[in-house]
Amino acid sequence: MPDSFCPKCGKNADIFYDNVCKNCFIKDKKLLECPAILFSKICPVCGSVYKRGKWSAREEERETIIECVNESLKLDNQVSNLELTLSPKQLDYSRYRVHIDAKAKIKGAPLEIEQDTEVRISWETCDTCSRIAGGYFEGIVQIRAEKRIPTKEELGKCKDIAENVSNRSQEKGDRLAFIAKTEELGEGVDLYVGSIKLGKQICRAIIEVFGGKITESPKLVGQKNGEDLYRITYALRLPEFVRGDIISADDKVIEVQTCGKHVSGIDLETGKRFIENFNDLMDIKKLGSRLDAVSAVLVADENKTIQVLDPETYETVTVKRPDFLGAEAGDEIKVIKTTKGIYVLP
Ligand SMILES: [Zn+2]
Ligand SMILES: [Zn+2]
Repeated sequence: MPDSFCPKCGKNADIFYDNVCKNCFIKDKKLLECPAILFSKICPVCGSVYKRGKWSAREEERETIIECVNESLKLDNQVSNLELTLSPKQLDYSRYRVHIDAKAKIKGAPLEIEQDTEVRISWETCDTCSRIAGGYFEGIVQIRAEKRIPTKEELGKCKDIAENVSNRSQEKGDRLAFIAKTEELGEGVDLYVGSIKLGKQICRAIIEVFGGKITESPKLVGQKNGEDLYRITYALRLPEFVRGDIISADDKVIEVQTCGKHVSGIDLETGKRFIENFNDLMDIKKLGSRLDAVSAVLVADENKTIQVLDPETYETVTVKRPDFLGAEAGDEIKVIKTTKGIYVLP
């Protein structure tokens, strides 16, 4: 086989690319180009990253740096089989040096390039953090209870629920789903929320757990770009009764287990389960709470009724025997004294 030579440089060669030898071919090829200095915008408060024209959720800083370089690379459009390695090294608080190592082929000719670039972080407060700092909010969720003061436990749970809802929405990318302020008041808690949508979501999540109802009242607060701007107050009312309340409902006396759209619990006269639509109950009133229960001696068990010693007057009182009672004469049992009489508690 006769020796072949490159028409450009005259050297002997076996393989040709575009009719020239490999060296001549790759001389004016550039596998990739990358600016020597790149900039990446990150919020110092929440870590959000500004990319493609908008702020998006925080990520690992090295990830941001790598992505920043990756997006700035200009590859020769004939490149194939690219193997790219980007190794970032932090220089100081705001600077990374990124070593670029790329191997690829152009029209079958193997090429390799090594290059360094520097990524500078410009720390800039994001739109959401600026809003929070400026006291921005779109709604207020007022947590109260119907005809009573909510308990500390209820309010604690409500705040946890609100925080969870807010975190979940933020993770899903809703950057306005923040709670700007929590105001503790004698009668409940006010949550200032970054978006109307979050206010609604919080109310729904709380009602799912506790029951209760909301009324919304929008208030015009101004205009933005020619559109009316509203702030909405969500007045959330937790149900009147809580677990452990002893209530009279119509003719029955119930120990409440849940109270929302439905009231459920135990009928203390029969020991049977009770469940009714709250709105169907005509005459509903609180008689006491399980916390008011006292011990009393069971004097006699007469099958349908029992006799107990009134813990205050020491008189023997006859009451109906509920299904759940397992005690025998002489035992101490838990009872509650109400305006409707004495009732045995499960
Ligand atoms: Zn050549
Ligand atoms: Zn931020």
